[in-house]
Amino acid sequence: MKSPSYIGRFAPTPSGYLHFGSLVAALASYLDARAVGGQWLMRMEDLDPPREVAGAQRAILETLERYGFEWDGQLVTQSHRHDAYQEIINRWFSHGLAYACTCSRKQLEPFQGVYPGTCRNAGHSPDNAAIRIRVPELLYRFEDRVQGPFQQHLGREVGDFVIRRRDGFYAYQLAVVIDDALQGVTDIVRGADLLDSTPRQLYLQELLGAPQPRYLHVPLITQPDGNKLGKSYRSPPLEADQAIPLLLRALRALGQEPESALAYGSPQEVLKWAIERWNVSAIPRVRNLEEARID
Ligand SMILES: [Zn+2]
Repeated sequence: MKSPSYIGRFAPTPSGYLHFGSLVAALASYLDARAVGGQWLMRMEDLDPPREVAGAQRAILETLERYGFEWDGQLVTQSHRHDAYQEIINRWFSHGLAYACTCSRKQLEPFQGVYPGTCRNAGHSPDNAAIRIRVPELLYRFEDRVQGPFQQHLGREVGDFVIRRRDGFYAYQLAVVIDDALQGVTDIVRGADLLDSTPRQLYLQELLGAPQPRYLHVPLITQPDGNKLGKSYRSPPLEADQAIPLLLRALRALGQEPESALAYGSPQEVLKWAIERWNVSAIPRVRNLEEARID
Protein backbone atom coordinates (compact mmCIF):
# COMPACT_ATOMS: atom_id res chain seq x y z
CA MET A 1 0.00 0.00 0.00
CA LYS A 2 3.02 2.35 -0.19
CA SER A 3 2.30 5.37 -2.29
CA PRO A 4 5.30 7.69 -2.38
CA SER A 5 3.39 9.86 -4.81
CA TYR A 6 0.80 10.82 -2.19
CA ILE A 7 1.38 14.31 -0.79
CA GLY A 8 -1.11 15.58 1.77
CA ARG A 9 -1.09 18.61 4.02
CA PHE A 10 -2.62 20.36 6.99
CA ALA A 11 -3.07 24.09 6.60
CA PRO A 12 -4.28 25.80 9.78
CA THR A 13 -5.22 29.47 10.01
CA PRO A 14 -3.80 31.23 13.08
CA SER A 15 -6.98 33.21 13.73
CA GLY A 16 -7.42 31.05 16.82
CA TYR A 17 -5.97 28.02 18.58
CA LEU A 18 -6.39 24.45 17.44
CA HIS A 19 -9.84 23.29 18.55
CA PHE A 20 -11.55 19.93 18.42
CA GLY A 21 -12.92 20.51 14.89
CA SER A 22 -9.47 21.33 13.52
CA LEU A 23 -8.04 18.30 15.34
CA VAL A 24 -10.54 16.10 13.48
CA ALA A 25 -9.46 17.60 10.14
CA ALA A 26 -5.75 17.33 11.00
CA LEU A 27 -6.17 13.73 12.09
CA ALA A 28 -8.07 12.74 8.93
CA SER A 29 -5.47 14.29 6.63
CA TYR A 30 -2.62 12.73 8.63
CA LEU A 31 -4.11 9.24 8.65
CA ASP A 32 -5.07 9.38 4.98
CA ALA A 33 -1.48 10.28 4.05
CA ARG A 34 0.33 7.92 6.41
CA ALA A 35 -1.95 4.96 5.68
CA VAL A 36 -0.48 4.84 2.15
CA GLY A 37 3.06 5.84 3.17
CA GLY A 38 2.54 9.36 1.82
CA GLN A 39 4.01 12.66 2.88
CA TRP A 40 2.20 15.08 5.19
CA LEU A 41 3.14 18.75 4.90
CA MET A 42 2.38 21.66 7.21
CA ARG A 43 1.40 25.11 5.97
CA MET A 44 0.46 28.12 8.06
CA GLU A 45 -2.26 30.12 6.29
CA ASP A 46 -1.49 33.48 7.87
CA LEU A 47 -2.98 35.68 5.16
CA ASP A 48 -5.01 37.91 7.43
CA PRO A 49 -2.81 39.62 10.05
CA PRO A 50 -5.69 41.74 11.47
CA ARG A 51 -7.52 38.52 12.43
CA GLU A 52 -4.47 36.68 13.71
CA VAL A 53 -4.31 35.81 17.41
CA ALA A 54 -0.89 36.54 18.92
CA GLY A 55 0.97 33.33 19.68
CA ALA A 56 -1.53 31.13 17.81
CA GLN A 57 0.97 29.93 15.18
CA ARG A 58 3.37 28.60 17.79
CA ALA A 59 0.55 27.20 19.93
CA ILE A 60 -0.97 25.28 16.99
CA LEU A 61 2.35 23.64 16.08
CA GLU A 62 3.16 22.81 19.70
CA THR A 63 -0.24 21.22 20.21
CA LEU A 64 0.14 19.11 17.06
CA GLU A 65 3.56 17.93 18.26
CA ARG A 66 2.23 17.06 21.71
CA TYR A 67 -0.59 15.13 20.08
CA GLY A 68 2.00 13.00 18.27
CA PHE A 69 1.81 14.46 14.74
CA GLU A 70 5.00 14.62 12.68
CA TRP A 71 5.15 16.55 9.43
CA ASP A 72 7.57 16.28 6.54
CA GLY A 73 9.82 19.07 5.36
CA GLN A 74 9.79 22.72 6.28
CA LEU A 75 6.77 24.62 7.49
CA VAL A 76 5.51 26.90 4.69
CA THR A 77 4.20 30.27 5.88
CA GLN A 78 1.91 32.12 3.48
CA SER A 79 2.95 35.56 4.76
CA HIS A 80 6.34 34.84 3.14
CA ARG A 81 4.76 34.03 -0.23
CA HIS A 82 3.23 37.40 -1.18
CA ASP A 83 5.57 37.95 -4.14
CA ALA A 84 4.50 34.65 -5.70
CA TYR A 85 0.81 35.53 -5.30
CA GLN A 86 1.29 39.03 -6.74
CA GLU A 87 3.19 37.68 -9.73
CA ILE A 88 0.24 35.46 -10.68
CA ILE A 89 -2.22 38.30 -10.16
CA ASN A 90 -0.12 40.59 -12.38
CA ARG A 91 -0.10 37.96 -15.10
CA TRP A 92 -3.87 37.47 -14.99
CA PHE A 93 -4.44 41.23 -14.77
CA SER A 94 -2.32 41.91 -17.83
CA HIS A 95 -4.17 39.17 -19.75
CA GLY A 96 -7.52 40.71 -18.82
CA LEU A 97 -8.52 37.68 -16.75
CA ALA A 98 -8.45 39.65 -13.52
CA TYR A 99 -9.70 43.19 -12.97
CA ALA A 100 -10.01 45.83 -10.28
CA CYS A 101 -13.29 46.25 -8.41
CA THR A 102 -14.20 49.32 -6.38
CA CYS A 103 -17.68 48.19 -5.30
CA SER A 104 -18.46 48.75 -1.64
CA ARG A 105 -19.90 46.07 0.61
CA LYS A 106 -23.14 48.06 0.71
CA GLN A 107 -23.39 48.16 -3.10
CA LEU A 108 -23.01 44.37 -3.27
CA GLU A 109 -25.44 43.60 -0.44
CA PRO A 110 -28.54 43.10 -2.64
CA PHE A 111 -26.78 40.41 -4.72
CA GLN A 112 -26.45 37.92 -1.84
CA GLY A 113 -22.86 36.93 -2.45
CA VAL A 114 -23.02 36.54 -6.24
CA TYR A 115 -20.96 39.33 -7.80
CA PRO A 116 -23.02 41.01 -10.56
CA GLY A 117 -19.98 41.95 -12.68
CA THR A 118 -20.34 45.70 -12.14
CA CYS A 119 -16.65 46.52 -12.62
CA ARG A 120 -15.86 43.89 -15.27
CA ASN A 121 -15.19 46.36 -18.04
CA ALA A 122 -14.67 49.53 -16.01
CA GLY A 123 -10.88 49.52 -16.35
CA HIS A 124 -10.27 50.65 -12.75
CA SER A 125 -6.71 50.98 -11.50
CA PRO A 126 -5.65 48.09 -9.21
CA ASP A 127 -4.53 50.55 -6.51
CA ASN A 128 -6.87 50.68 -3.52
CA ALA A 129 -9.23 48.25 -5.24
CA ALA A 130 -10.10 44.60 -4.81
CA ILE A 131 -8.92 42.30 -7.61
CA ARG A 132 -11.46 39.85 -9.02
CA ILE A 133 -11.01 36.95 -11.41
CA ARG A 134 -13.46 36.52 -14.28
CA VAL A 135 -15.31 33.23 -14.06
CA PRO A 136 -16.71 31.28 -17.01
CA GLU A 137 -20.42 30.45 -17.31
CA LEU A 138 -19.67 26.84 -16.55
CA LEU A 139 -20.54 24.10 -14.10
CA TYR A 140 -17.56 22.84 -12.10
CA ARG A 141 -17.89 19.39 -10.61
CA PHE A 142 -15.81 16.86 -8.73
CA GLU A 143 -16.23 13.63 -6.86
CA ASP A 144 -15.48 13.95 -3.16
CA ARG A 145 -14.22 10.75 -1.53
CA VAL A 146 -16.66 11.12 1.36
CA GLN A 147 -19.31 13.61 0.31
CA GLY A 148 -19.80 12.18 -3.18
CA PRO A 149 -20.47 14.28 -6.29
CA PHE A 150 -20.47 18.04 -5.83
CA GLN A 151 -21.09 20.76 -8.38
CA GLN A 152 -21.44 24.49 -8.64
CA HIS A 153 -22.12 26.86 -11.52
CA LEU A 154 -19.45 29.51 -11.13
CA GLY A 155 -21.20 32.18 -13.16
CA ARG A 156 -24.63 31.80 -11.58
CA GLU A 157 -23.76 30.77 -8.02
CA VAL A 158 -20.52 32.67 -7.34
CA GLY A 159 -19.70 35.29 -9.96
CA ASP A 160 -16.27 36.86 -10.44
CA PHE A 161 -14.60 36.39 -7.07
CA VAL A 162 -11.96 38.28 -5.09
CA ILE A 163 -8.37 37.08 -5.32
CA ARG A 164 -6.82 40.12 -3.61
CA ARG A 165 -8.75 42.14 -1.11
CA ARG A 166 -9.12 45.89 -1.22
CA ASP A 167 -6.88 46.19 1.87
CA GLY A 168 -4.10 44.50 -0.13
CA PHE A 169 -4.29 41.08 1.54
CA TYR A 170 -4.40 38.00 -0.68
CA ALA A 171 -7.53 35.90 -0.73
CA TYR A 172 -7.58 32.39 0.67
CA GLN A 173 -8.90 30.96 -2.64
CA LEU A 174 -5.86 32.20 -4.52
CA ALA A 175 -3.14 31.39 -2.00
CA VAL A 176 -4.38 27.88 -1.24
CA VAL A 177 -4.39 26.89 -4.92
CA ILE A 178 -0.97 28.39 -5.70
CA ASP A 179 0.63 26.75 -2.65
CA ASP A 180 -0.98 23.35 -3.11
CA ALA A 181 0.30 23.38 -6.70
CA LEU A 182 3.78 24.54 -5.65
CA GLN A 183 4.04 21.88 -2.95
CA GLY A 184 2.79 19.16 -5.29
CA VAL A 185 -0.17 18.31 -3.04
CA THR A 186 -2.06 15.35 -4.51
CA ASP A 187 -4.72 14.89 -1.84
CA ILE A 188 -6.66 17.52 0.07
CA VAL A 189 -8.39 16.37 3.24
CA ARG A 190 -10.18 19.14 5.14
CA GLY A 191 -13.45 20.26 6.74
CA ALA A 192 -16.70 20.22 4.78
CA ASP A 193 -17.11 23.98 5.23
CA LEU A 194 -14.70 24.23 2.28
CA LEU A 195 -16.80 22.11 -0.12
CA ASP A 196 -18.36 25.30 -1.48
CA SER A 197 -14.91 26.76 -2.16
CA THR A 198 -13.68 23.77 -4.13
CA PRO A 199 -15.23 24.65 -7.55
CA ARG A 200 -13.53 28.09 -7.40
CA GLN A 201 -10.29 26.33 -6.62
CA LEU A 202 -10.76 23.89 -9.52
CA TYR A 203 -11.11 26.88 -11.83
CA LEU A 204 -7.96 28.58 -10.50
CA GLN A 205 -6.06 25.27 -10.87
CA GLU A 206 -7.18 25.22 -14.48
CA LEU A 207 -5.87 28.77 -15.04
CA LEU A 208 -2.54 27.85 -13.43
CA GLY A 209 -2.27 24.65 -15.44
CA ALA A 210 -2.00 22.74 -12.16
CA PRO A 211 -3.23 19.14 -11.82
CA GLN A 212 -6.47 18.61 -9.91
CA PRO A 213 -5.91 16.99 -6.52
CA ARG A 214 -8.28 14.43 -5.01
CA TYR A 215 -10.62 15.77 -2.34
CA LEU A 216 -11.94 14.36 0.91
CA HIS A 217 -14.12 16.66 3.02
CA VAL A 218 -14.70 15.43 6.57
CA PRO A 219 -17.77 16.49 8.57
CA LEU A 220 -17.49 19.89 10.16
CA ILE A 221 -17.83 19.67 13.93
CA THR A 222 -20.52 22.10 15.01
CA GLN A 223 -22.06 23.49 18.18
CA PRO A 224 -25.69 22.71 19.03
CA ASP A 225 -26.56 26.19 17.65
CA GLY A 226 -25.16 25.07 14.28
CA ASN A 227 -22.07 27.26 14.51
CA LYS A 228 -18.72 25.92 13.44
CA LEU A 229 -16.61 24.96 16.41
CA GLY A 230 -14.05 27.62 17.20
CA LYS A 231 -15.88 30.31 15.25
CA SER A 232 -18.71 31.16 17.60
CA TYR A 233 -16.32 31.99 20.45
CA ARG A 234 -12.61 32.02 21.08
CA SER A 235 -11.86 28.37 21.73
CA PRO A 236 -9.11 27.73 24.26
CA PRO A 237 -6.13 25.70 23.01
CA LEU A 238 -6.52 21.93 23.27
CA GLU A 239 -4.95 20.80 26.54
CA ALA A 240 -1.71 18.83 26.26
CA ASP A 241 -2.82 16.34 28.92
CA GLN A 242 -6.03 15.64 26.99
CA ALA A 243 -4.19 14.37 23.92
CA ILE A 244 -5.27 10.73 24.19
CA PRO A 245 -8.96 11.19 25.06
CA LEU A 246 -9.32 13.88 22.41
CA LEU A 247 -7.52 11.82 19.74
CA LEU A 248 -9.81 8.88 20.54
CA ARG A 249 -12.85 11.14 20.37
CA ALA A 250 -11.65 12.59 17.05
CA LEU A 251 -11.28 9.02 15.74
CA ARG A 252 -14.87 8.26 16.77
CA ALA A 253 -16.02 11.47 15.03
CA LEU A 254 -14.41 10.01 11.89
CA GLY A 255 -16.31 6.74 12.31
CA GLN A 256 -13.20 4.78 13.34
CA GLU A 257 -13.54 2.44 16.31
CA PRO A 258 -10.54 2.83 18.59
CA GLU A 259 -9.91 0.07 21.16
CA SER A 260 -10.40 1.13 24.75
CA ALA A 261 -6.91 -0.13 25.65
CA LEU A 262 -5.46 2.75 23.61
CA ALA A 263 -6.45 5.07 26.46
CA TYR A 264 -3.44 3.81 28.40
CA GLY A 265 -0.83 4.34 25.68
CA SER A 266 0.84 7.35 24.15
CA PRO A 267 -0.49 9.69 21.44
CA GLN A 268 2.02 8.09 19.06
CA GLU A 269 0.55 4.66 19.79
CA VAL A 270 -2.96 5.93 19.12
CA LEU A 271 -1.84 7.37 15.77
CA LYS A 272 0.05 4.22 14.81
CA TRP A 273 -3.02 2.07 15.61
CA ALA A 274 -5.24 4.42 13.57
CA ILE A 275 -2.88 4.56 10.55
CA GLU A 276 -2.96 0.76 10.30
CA ARG A 277 -6.76 0.66 10.39
CA TRP A 278 -7.70 3.89 8.56
CA ASN A 279 -11.07 3.28 6.95
CA VAL A 280 -12.36 6.11 4.75
CA SER A 281 -15.64 4.32 4.09
CA ALA A 282 -16.51 4.58 7.82
CA ILE A 283 -16.40 8.41 7.84
CA PRO A 284 -19.94 9.76 8.26
CA ARG A 285 -21.20 11.06 4.92
CA VAL A 286 -22.55 14.26 6.37
CA ARG A 287 -21.41 17.86 6.12
CA ASN A 288 -21.99 18.70 9.78
CA LEU A 289 -21.63 16.69 12.95
CA GLU A 290 -22.87 18.14 16.20
CA GLU A 291 -20.14 17.91 18.82
CA ALA A 292 -22.53 16.69 21.48
CA ARG A 293 -23.40 13.64 19.35
CA ILE A 294 -19.86 12.30 19.37
CA ASP A 295 -19.10 9.74 22.13
ZN1 LIG B 1 -17.04 46.06 -8.52
